[in-house]
Amino acid sequence: MERLLEDIVATPGLGIREETPRTNLWDTVLELLDHVAMQLELDPGIHSILRQPERELTVAVPVMMDEGYIRVFTGYRIQHSSARGPCKGGIRYHPDVDLDEVRALAALMTLKCAVVNIPYGGAKGGVQCDPMQLSENEIRRMTRRYTAMIMPIIGPKRDIPAPDVNTNSQTMAWIADTVSMLTGKTTLEIVTGKPVALGGSLGRMEATGRGVAMVTHELLKRAGRDLTETTVAVQGYGNVGSAAATILDHMGCKVTAVSDVNGGLWGPAGLDIASGNWHGANHPKRLREGYQAPGVEHISNAELLTSAVDVLIPAALEHQIHARNAPDIRARMIVEGANGPTSSEADEILQDRNIIVVPDILANAGGVVVSYFEWVQNLQFFFWEEEEVNRNLKRIMVNSFEKVWDYSHEQRVPLRVGAYMLAVDKVARAIHQRGVFP
Ligand code: NAD
Repeated sequence: MERLLEDIVATPGLGIREETPRTNLWDTVLELLDHVAMQLELDPGIHSILRQPERELTVAVPVMMDEGYIRVFTGYRIQHSSARGPCKGGIRYHPDVDLDEVRALAALMTLKCAVVNIPYGGAKGGVQCDPMQLSENEIRRMTRRYTAMIMPIIGPKRDIPAPDVNTNSQTMAWIADTVSMLTGKTTLEIVTGKPVALGGSLGRMEATGRGVAMVTHELLKRAGRDLTETTVAVQGYGNVGSAAATILDHMGCKVTAVSDVNGGLWGPAGLDIASGNWHGANHPKRLREGYQAPGVEHISNAELLTSAVDVLIPAALEHQIHARNAPDIRARMIVEGANGPTSSEADEILQDRNIIVVPDILANAGGVVVSYFEWVQNLQFFFWEEEEVNRNLKRIMVNSFEKVWDYSHEQRVPLRVGAYMLAVDKVARAIHQRGVFP
């Protein structure tokens, strides 16, 4: 018992909170939603519907730890809106997961699906835990119990989870298996981002990063810049960041900085991404541990964010760009691979400094677009070639970028406000057309 108490207190997010209070992403989202509601002269009733998630479920998830004691984790599944279709959104395992973070991420999903015009609403889930401190068996047991506890509200036509921070195709396989075992029928379409062998889509793993790269290319075209003359820094080297860096490198950009939670690498002549990926595969989650290459220095995450590059791609967590570091950012363009990486104060500073920001709900939508393709393939039991997946992803990302770019210029607003305006208008129309039940 003593060990259990020590363990709980020592685990970030489970006992004593960190000293620095985090700015709240839900406040950031609401602030912008209110601003956009005013710009659009949105019906006040519809505005208040959008200010609150439709459904919030909090679950206490008991897990039998490897050492034989029970630990209880708090989990959430929040459905922000089902106005445009079944809810859709990832599941995150992280010590900072809380109700407000999940609310914000769920609302961003509603807006993201509207921006790229796929027929989904928005949801998000998460478990407050530190997966680095858990064994694979503990994570599997936690995933299965969490799934059983959110099962009453998820479903292929209700709410379809997917991977997010610290979850992956293996997590999705456990969720699909748990639901299949509990219902007595194979229900692989309950989640997307599954392994290809279990009905996952070709191209899904890289889809978010590929979409980030496609959007970066569109932005560079508008800025009259050549890919081969462009330097890029990527913060976060997980699913999104590593794919974005690798694809931009293939496209000819010079990726000069990358980082993960433990710090980063800086190579002004361009990093050798292929050798970095090989090193990363052998040192999971410790990108720079033991990595040596001529002309490559080890840097901190703070240094990466303010490094001298043309394009900065934050692809880790929220509010990494804040009022304190925004004045020092040297990139002229930011493409948001992560959800909510820029605080609202930082956004204002970046606008004043004429730094172009491609917002999360557009820039990282490639993941949910290919998740949609996966779901469609699952419902039809008919699978596409990877070339078809990537071609359709490109069509949607390029069209969506063009719409947001043109509309924002017409309205003389930043891309984030333009993207929110288009999205909120689309969701509001759906609510209006469906009417308020009963
Ligand atoms: P991941 O768990 O695969 O990778 C996260 C990466 O960020 C890791 O390299 C980790 O070391 C790094 N990281 C964590 N904390 C950090 C910190 N404080 N500073 C620097 N690096 C840090 O997660 P992911 O799926 O790549 O998600 C990254 C972001 O992209 C999240 O905001 C997520 O919501 C968003 N996103 C993910 C997807 C998807 O399909 N996976 C889709 C859209 C948006």
